[in-house]
Amino acid sequence: MDSSLPPSVILIRPPVEAFSVLIAVTGGCSWNKCKFCATYKGILGEKPQDYAIRPLEDVLRDIDAFAANNYHGYPVFLAGGNPTSAPTEYLVKILKYVRGKMREIPRISCYCKALDVIRKSDEELKALAEAGLDIVYMGLESGSSKILRIMKKGTNAESFIKAGKRILNAGIKLSMYILLGLGSYELSNEHVKETARVLTEINPTIFRFRTLNILPNTPLWDDWKKGKFELLKPVDCIREEREIIANLGPNVTSQVFNDHVSNFCSIESSNIQKDREMFLQTLNAFINDPRIQNLPRENRTNL
Ligand code: SF4
Repeated sequence: MDSSLPPSVILIRPPVEAFSVLIAVTGGCSWNKCKFCATYKGILGEKPQDYAIRPLEDVLRDIDAFAANNYHGYPVFLAGGNPTSAPTEYLVKILKYVRGKMREIPRISCYCKALDVIRKSDEELKALAEAGLDIVYMGLESGSSKILRIMKKGTNAESFIKAGKRILNAGIKLSMYILLGLGSYELSNEHVKETARVLTEINPTIFRFRTLNILPNTPLWDDWKKGKFELLKPVDCIREEREIIANLGPNVTSQVFNDHVSNFCSIESSNIQKDREMFLQTLNAFINDPRIQNLPRENRTNL
C-alpha cells in the first residue's frame, strides 16, 4: 500500500487470509534460523531479509489509506514474520487504530512466535485481546523438542505449551501449524507422539497440517542433497497425520484443516472430538488406496 515500505517487507499470509486486508507491521523474521524455512532467507543468492519493525506513523498511514479507499468489512491481517515481536504498546495502538478507522471487521490476526508470547506478561496479552487481536497463527511444526532442536526452531515443546495456554487464557484464539515429515523416517514416531501430546496439552482453537518440501535457500536443502535427510512418501505423510489424530487426548476439541497446496489430502473438521472416527476412516481410505501408495514423492519447490 505504502510506497515507503522497506524492501525487506514480504507480505506472506495464511491461505485463510487470502481475502484479507494485509497491513505490513514487521519486515523479516526476528529469528530466521529455522532450517526448513525459506521465507526470509533471501532468494537466488541474495542476502537474508532484514528484520525490522515499521515506524508506527507509516503503519497508521496505511490504515488511513485502506479506510479512505473503502476497505471496510474485510478481515485484517497484520503482516510480517512475527509482529508479536514488536512492543505491546505499539501493537495496541495499531489494533485500536484499525478498529477505529475500519468498519465491520470480522477479525484481526497475525503470525506469532512462541518466544514473543513468553516475553510478554499476561496483562500485555490481555491488552492485545482487548484492543481487538482475535487470532494468532503459530508454527509449532513438531511437538518433539529433539526435532525442534535439530531444526533450530528456537523453542522447545514445553515453551510451546506454556505460550499456547497463555494465549488462550488471554482470550486470543490460537491456530497452530504442524509440519508433516519434519522428523523424516528416523524420528517419525517421535514426531507423531510428541506432537499429539503437545496438542493435547494446549487444545488450540485450530491446528493445521502442512507437508514439508525443501527449498534451495534453506540449510535443510544441503542435508537433503547429501542424502542426510529423506522426505516422506505421500502415503507416509498421510500416515503421520492419521497417527497424530489417533494419539490426541479425548479432551481435544480443535478445528482441524489441511488447507495448503502442500497437503496430499484436504479433509477438515470443525471439532476433532466429534469427528475423530470419521477423520481416521477417511485417512485410512487414503492410506489403503493403491494410487496413493504408489504415488512417488517429489520435492516441490514452486509452492
Ligand atoms: S519458520 Fe517462522 S520463526 Fe522460523 S525462520 Fe521462518 S518465519 Fe522465522
